[in-house]
Amino acid sequence: MVTIRANALIGPELEYTEDIRIQLSNEGTILDISKDKKPTKYILHPSYLLVPGFINAHVHVGDAFLKDKTYGLSLEEAVGSTGIKHAKLSSSSIEEKTESLRNSLQMMVNNGFTTFFDFREGGLECIKLLKKTLTNFPIRGLILGRPFPNQLLEEISSLSDGLGFPDVFSLDEVMCSKANELKSKSSYHLQAIHVSESQEVLARSFSEFGKRDIRKALEVLDLDFVVHATYANEDDLVSLRKANVSVVCCPLSNLYNGLDFPPLETILKKNILLGLGTDNVFFCNPDPFRLMAFSLYSARSNDQKLSPKDVLKSLTVNPGLIAQKKIGQLTVGYHGDLIGLNMESPNLKYSKDVYSAITMRASPADIVFQMFNGRLVKWIGQK
Ligand SMILES: [Zn+2]
Repeated sequence: MVTIRANALIGPELEYTEDIRIQLSNEGTILDISKDKKPTKYILHPSYLLVPGFINAHVHVGDAFLKDKTYGLSLEEAVGSTGIKHAKLSSSSIEEKTESLRNSLQMMVNNGFTTFFDFREGGLECIKLLKKTLTNFPIRGLILGRPFPNQLLEEISSLSDGLGFPDVFSLDEVMCSKANELKSKSSYHLQAIHVSESQEVLARSFSEFGKRDIRKALEVLDLDFVVHATYANEDDLVSLRKANVSVVCCPLSNLYNGLDFPPLETILKKNILLGLGTDNVFFCNPDPFRLMAFSLYSARSNDQKLSPKDVLKSLTVNPGLIAQKKIGQLTVGYHGDLIGLNMESPNLKYSKDVYSAITMRASPADIVFQMFNGRLVKWIGQK
């Protein structure tokens, strides 16, 4: 049994609560959250604030070994089927791939992520490689495999947490009905796809299908969420809401690639669950603080109204709901994934708003306590 006393952001509304006691089972599940004064194993300094471990709702962890190779290039040159990424992925050794994965996972752990959703390239071999590498890191990886030549979709799906399709152009009727069938028969099978990342994607969709790609995707796939939707219009978002499909945006990646800032305010106004992700590691480091600050700054300069709390939820509560797992909030029954921030650090001291401080001022250096599924990862300043 593990117990922690601290100030914390509690529940799905991340409500600031002082001096609470969190009790966790030996399996890492939160059993109780209360104000009682019973003896406690971990008593955190009063300046420390517990928040749910961050969730990176979209990342490609396999391409860290190409960091900074693609600044200034087009999306096609970077991640297209004949681009730099796929050439490297198909020519690199298992050792190189493993080292690259280890680098991505270490960065995410150090930066405060406790879960990530990976769009996994490279078929069964790369899914197995990530699973094996993950066993040495205190972080949860939800793996969305994708169709791969000469491999059965059943096998890819059974080793993954679902399927993440690269785009609508890679779909065919047989594949989609197979994927939908697998989803309907499985107790847990997420399904997602990249959509409307660029104007080029939309133009190609019009020329190949005579319609926008979000509409095409909704017609053929039973989806849990779409990724990007950078150029989604009002009708697209209404259709996503109607189909109960969530949206994961990657603002840092979009701006790195010279694209627009995604319509985060409109997505939230439509009551669509919004998650945020850092996307390809070779575009930008998986850092939740940089992603939150950047999203809030860019929203201002794009005339979008977003609250710091909405952005914090997009990296905690919302992706937990999108994943349909008990993660992303400090609530009884949920996994004990916790990050403690020192609110008296030079970065955060004097802040008059805890949500603004976390989203726009904090950095990984302010993480003083970390727990993954009830297991202690870090505790700085313990008595
Ligand atoms: Zn992606």
